[in-house]
Amino acid sequence: MTPSSPSAPPPTRAQRRAGPHTRSGVAAFVAVALAVAPVSHPPFVSLASAQTATDSSELRKYGSVPSAPPSVPALPDSADIQKYGSIGGPAVPLSPSQKLPDLGDSSQSIMSPTQERKLGELIMRQIRGGGGYLEDAEVNDYLNELGNRLVTATRDVKQDFVFFAVPDQAINAFALPGGFVGVNTGLVLLAQNESQLASVLAHEISHVTQHHITRGMASQQNVLLTTLAGLAVAILASKAGGSSSNQAMSAAIAGTQALAAQQQINFTRENEFEADRVGFTRLVSAGFDPNAMGEFFDRLQRSSRFVEGNVPSYLRDHPVTYERIAEAKSRAQDLPYKQVRDSLDFHLVRALLQSYQGDAREQAANFARNIAEKKFNNEVAEHYGLVASWLRAKDIPKAKEALVQLEKIAPPHPMVEAMAGNVLLAAAEYPAAVKRFESALTRYPNKMQLIHDYPEALIKAGRPADASAYAEKELVRFPAEGPLHEIAARAYAAQDKRLKQHEHQGEYYAWIGNLPLAVTQYELATKSGDGDFYQLSVVETRLRALRQEMAEQQRLGFSRAG
Ligand SMILES: [Zn+2]
Repeated sequence: MTPSSPSAPPPTRAQRRAGPHTRSGVAAFVAVALAVAPVSHPPFVSLASAQTATDSSELRKYGSVPSAPPSVPALPDSADIQKYGSIGGPAVPLSPSQKLPDLGDSSQSIMSPTQERKLGELIMRQIRGGGGYLEDAEVNDYLNELGNRLVTATRDVKQDFVFFAVPDQAINAFALPGGFVGVNTGLVLLAQNESQLASVLAHEISHVTQHHITRGMASQQNVLLTTLAGLAVAILASKAGGSSSNQAMSAAIAGTQALAAQQQINFTRENEFEADRVGFTRLVSAGFDPNAMGEFFDRLQRSSRFVEGNVPSYLRDHPVTYERIAEAKSRAQDLPYKQVRDSLDFHLVRALLQSYQGDAREQAANFARNIAEKKFNNEVAEHYGLVASWLRAKDIPKAKEALVQLEKIAPPHPMVEAMAGNVLLAAAEYPAAVKRFESALTRYPNKMQLIHDYPEALIKAGRPADASAYAEKELVRFPAEGPLHEIAARAYAAQDKRLKQHEHQGEYYAWIGNLPLAVTQYELATKSGDGDFYQLSVVETRLRALRQEMAEQQRLGFSRAG
């Protein structure tokens, strides 16, 4: 276990897309992620935690993903959105000058919005570092697009939201303090249409706008702290231990603590009804199918029946579900029927998530069969999934062949562009890949996947200086985009610019909430001996801030390593 090894950066997207991780640093990183997995029982779980049998979800993007549990019925496709648009961007990391909220002050019954946001960001970093965040720009962009369409459907919402995908087959979605909403990939795959997915997001958004979380937390601050500290300790324990049994034990401890907190912080029955009611209005205002909420509640319940001896805790603890289904259905009955088309993005994102599942060749066979038998709701998405599956299977000729078919029928779309560029990368046609990404970026300058992939292609094409310059430029536009730091680190490593390499690697670790590793990288940066006076003083200032932040977290009980 040497996650701190600076010479083993995480894999590029192309590597992830091409197959399981091979680098040891990555493996270690992923192992830590799997060991903690706060994903299936996060704190503040609200609705829809109809967890399926496979809680031991693996994965990070493009790696191995467990196949869908048998409890999830075959997933008919159907739908289209205007994805991609807004780069909602992930959480902004705490800047050094920001103080963590003082959670110990019991005289403060309700946190201020700023404190809530900071707490949310802190939890987000734990989640990222613990493998509960799917590092997939396309999926996260889509969820932000969909979520923000719901948020802006009414004018009353003052706060920002960040939506993110959780790499977990368990069917769940949850809201964190500060407007962070996590959606498990299992839930995205269970949704038959975009309105159903939107109905869950609308419900979660409403928990935030109705201040249910803040109210629930007011009396539970100590439980919250205990849980977060427990997660942090589990992360550290798994790093120290290294054996898989230690990791499993850590995961169990973290899971138990998170679950205990969840049960105590669970929203009240009144909260659930209110979130349904307000969420329904939001769903309809945003132009989605009013029937979707009742339909999806039904579907959640039915999917849970297949899970033997493992009734999802949400449904077990909340016998109100039938009532809620009935209410949602009767609300919809009062409205005129409305045909709602799903976005192409919805279909593409589902096909992409599908392609991550289980054996890549089997997935390719599934997509090919569906195409041959015309069993699909969206033909473009089916071809897209076929390319993605062959790419993950590392069968480049097959991927190229499938891409030709895809491009014959696909409308112009950034996800198709990114896929085409990645096929070229996998085929080692680097200059062609660079060209493809360049032309795609002129059309879609804000698409984060392209912004990640382009410098990746530049590095491979032997142009690391261009890659680092590009990454730096984009970091000015998107300062909260942690993965760009990781790309920049590799670009600088290829130029043997060690101060800049360690600086960016450190920022990446800070982004995923691993302050000890961030500090180590910044220490290496100060010792690199290849920076000018100005660069060195910037690095030293940041190092002091990181050390201070780490000390503060230790004081709060979030971490104990040094
Ligand atoms: Zn709820």
